[in-house]
Amino acid sequence: MGEYKKAVDKSFNKNSERRPSNRGPAGRKSSDKGLAGRKAAGEKAGGWKTGDGRFTGRKTSDGKNNVKKQSVNGGGCSSAKKCGGCQYQSIPYEKQLRMKQKMVEELLRPFGKVEKIIGMKDPKYYRNKVHHVFARDQKGQIIAGNYQVNSHRVVPVSDCLIEDKKSQEIIETIRQLAKSFKIRIYDEDTDYGLLRHVMVRRGFTSGEIMVILVLRSPILPSKNNFVKALREKHPEITTIVINVNDKRTNMVLGSRDILLYGPGFIKDTLCGCTFRISPQSFYQVNPVQTEVLYRKAVEYAELNGKETVIDAYCGIGTIGMIAAKHAGKVLGIELNGDAVRDACVNARENQMRNIQFEQGDAGDYMQEMAMMGESADVVFMDPPRSGSTEIFMESVVKMGPKKVVYVSCNPETLARDLAYFAKHGYAVKKMQPVDMFPATEHVETVCLMSRKEK
Ligand code: SAH
Repeated sequence: MGEYKKAVDKSFNKNSERRPSNRGPAGRKSSDKGLAGRKAAGEKAGGWKTGDGRFTGRKTSDGKNNVKKQSVNGGGCSSAKKCGGCQYQSIPYEKQLRMKQKMVEELLRPFGKVEKIIGMKDPKYYRNKVHHVFARDQKGQIIAGNYQVNSHRVVPVSDCLIEDKKSQEIIETIRQLAKSFKIRIYDEDTDYGLLRHVMVRRGFTSGEIMVILVLRSPILPSKNNFVKALREKHPEITTIVINVNDKRTNMVLGSRDILLYGPGFIKDTLCGCTFRISPQSFYQVNPVQTEVLYRKAVEYAELNGKETVIDAYCGIGTIGMIAAKHAGKVLGIELNGDAVRDACVNARENQMRNIQFEQGDAGDYMQEMAMMGESADVVFMDPPRSGSTEIFMESVVKMGPKKVVYVSCNPETLARDLAYFAKHGYAVKKMQPVDMFPATEHVETVCLMSRKEK
């Protein structure tokens, strides 16, 4: 099977939340498609504002990238030097975009022209999912923050420039409550203590907020009073969940969720569809750019209302549901059971009758479909950072869809997989990078391939 591995990408197990904390697609695909866990490197402090502390807008010639100009001077994140989350934070945003464009072009030029990257108008506070780890500093004070790059040392973070501000405020409250409620902070070295991590997810459209307290064991002492105190300070929190992680692992989330308050999920709206998001389901971390990305992916497919469409690696069904409005029928395939459950509810709640979801490994499922002689007109694929597998791609080729729309958070594995498709009868038609992760080195790309006529 060459360099490809069949099967499950373990790094995307559950939320793909891993330590140490780097933020990338994890958010995805690092989390989700992932998180705290995905990528990172060193960086300098400073970064987001111009000297007078304000941003200046600038329209590019194509009018698309109305990005703000930012200088390395002015206020920045006080933890930036140590925290590994934002490799590009000290770099003005326009330059970040140029660097990403260059990186994508270097990898993808052999396949054709790369469109100009679509950046954000305001590249700050874009992360709708904020994960912090708890620890004690040398003075014994409770701190909440991110892992220092390539280490398990925790850097306190209180004014992150890419994380949602409200979520950061909630985490600060939890840090203070942990002290007043005398909650034991988990110590990785001794495997002793209770409170390990907190994750806050906010629906930017709905305003709904989910707090996930990751504990070493299921019992939170005085839990009712804790919930009451947290909600008194932040009545905007709509649900609170305990996640039990009793393993000495670098995954952030364990497999068991215990509901403390509210429905146990949040809802949010993207491209006119409403989505339910459970603690363990992947949801893109930058909702503003996610709409740009999904619209581009669906535009590339040029659906006419009749097609049979596959949405592989579908998460909670986002791309498939947006495509289903313009297609005959859609099948979503996803490994994570919680995400599939969310996807089914989402289809029902959005009154979509032409979409169904299957749980399983996308490669195995496609192989079976190809063996049964089934076909599709369009395949969307949005795999984790590790890219797709040979079994998956071989099966796509066998099924022979006219179009394949590949959404990727890792241009390296994208280049590898495009080479496979190119060798097996597909030509790359369009490639569009989208900046889903300002201040980090990560970049998303959507790519249209079409079947070469024989
Ligand atoms: N398209 C979705 C999800 C993309 S993230 C969105 O935009 O929200 C990648 C998804 O692939 C995750 O939901 C992850 O759980 C899933 N996944 C990882 N390995 C898989 C596999 N082998 N088969 C099917 N799905 C997989």
